[in-house]
Amino acid sequence: MGVHILVNKEDGYQCLYCSVSMWAFGPIFYQEEDADEFLDWLKPTDPRSLTDKELENKVYEWRKIINNEICPNCKCKNINTNGGDCWCAECGHKWEV
Ligand SMILES: [Zn+2]
Repeated sequence: MGVHILVNKEDGYQCLYCSVSMWAFGPIFYQEEDADEFLDWLKPTDPRSLTDKELENKVYEWRKIINNEICPNCKCKNINTNGGDCWCAECGHKWEV
């Protein structure tokens, strides 16, 4: 995949760029976020195939998942947290935090 990550050495902010067209695009990821993790989560979708608005919505959804606001499986908000574990009351999905 020709999508790579640029990192600002000073503040750790990251952004995506295409190494074929040498064009940066999409959101700015904060230092505590991992843009690589976002790309993994987005697979098999190529972020270059999305419109700005679609990519924005995906990042918004991903941030809700990494912040444990919605279930990564069914995307509901019916989440129970118990120590290092999360459990979805809607679909029964379990995951570690
Ligand atoms: Zn669920």
